[in-house]
Amino acid sequence: MTKLPKRTIVGVLVAALLIVAAIFFQQQGNGGNGDAFELRRSEFLMSTVVEALVYTEDEALGQEALSAAYRRAAELEAIMDRHQSDSDVAKINAAAGQNPVAVSEETFEVIRQGVEFGQMTGGAFDITVAPVMELWGFGSGENRVPDDEELERALELVDYRKIHLDEERLEVFLEKEGMELDLGGIAKGYIVDQALLTMQEMGIESASFDAGGDIRVLGIKPDGTPWRIGIRDPRDRTNLAAIVELDDQSVVTSGDYERFFMEDGQRYHHILDPDTGIPTRGLTSVTVLGEDAITTDTLSTGLFVMGLESGMELIESLADTEAIFITDDGQVHTSSGLDDQVEIL
Ligand code: ADP
Ligand code: MG
Repeated sequence: MTKLPKRTIVGVLVAALLIVAAIFFQQQGNGGNGDAFELRRSEFLMSTVVEALVYTEDEALGQEALSAAYRRAAELEAIMDRHQSDSDVAKINAAAGQNPVAVSEETFEVIRQGVEFGQMTGGAFDITVAPVMELWGFGSGENRVPDDEELERALELVDYRKIHLDEERLEVFLEKEGMELDLGGIAKGYIVDQALLTMQEMGIESASFDAGGDIRVLGIKPDGTPWRIGIRDPRDRTNLAAIVELDDQSVVTSGDYERFFMEDGQRYHHILDPDTGIPTRGLTSVTVLGEDAITTDTLSTGLFVMGLESGMELIESLADTEAIFITDDGQVHTSSGLDDQVEIL
């Protein structure tokens, strides 16, 4: 038997060890996510499909966290939905022009922030837009184009500056009879934040919560990579217009393609200019990236109303907040801080 040189034996041993190590790490790898379980859940809430994803090494904790997040979301929806007659918002609306109504801390906080975003966007974002929403049949009833006189009358009731807030007593009062709050452009964002924070407080470090495109992620993925989120092409549902990378952030898109009706070849969608009461034109979608979902939800709606020029000016003035505007001729415009986080397709 010929004796193998020592170098060869060492070489074979090292190679064998590498193979064993490779097999070991491959088995460990759960889609490259180490020991973490990938848990997914999907429920219908806030008139949309809400999808949550958790990475955790503790499966029982992950399941518990998911349940708690959905419970919290459902509980908040029940107090902020103006169509549920015993909600805080329904009570405020019913007492408009008559008396202030005491509400939960959460409802008060959302309305307080709604007023602040109204100021920030110069009134483009206005949570008192409900009377005009109703005219167009966005909310309850059939979609139809209202006439000028109807619009004029309803617009007299739209003004976020006529919301009175009493911080001490957590009371909300709408100055004029007939005024109505609609938290449709802000509550979803707040609820996404609260759902994710609920999971975080339970010890979850990597998760995402997606309420029909209102998305916030916690941390990064266990394999060390950021979350990658596709932004839909507004005129082709099957296509993506861009991909953004998120690290402990939120992204929300407002578009003219989610809720709309067509009449005489015109598209009428559900984001209204509070000055005219008419669905805005010029943009087909606005995507906002930021630290929390209440900000990105609100600003995506607000910037959509403001349009490309003033919208871009506002977003450039805000720290840690970026945007992608898509115009009705298909052009994509991104704010200056976004370059390394977005891939335009
Ligand atoms: P989605 O509800 O599809 O996520 P948005 O976040 O853009 O879309 O919010 C649109 C909703 O916001 C409308 O359904 C309505 O309830 C409300 N809304 C419409 N126009 C305005 C506006 N100018 N300011 C504030 N809220 C608005
Ligand atoms: Mg929004």
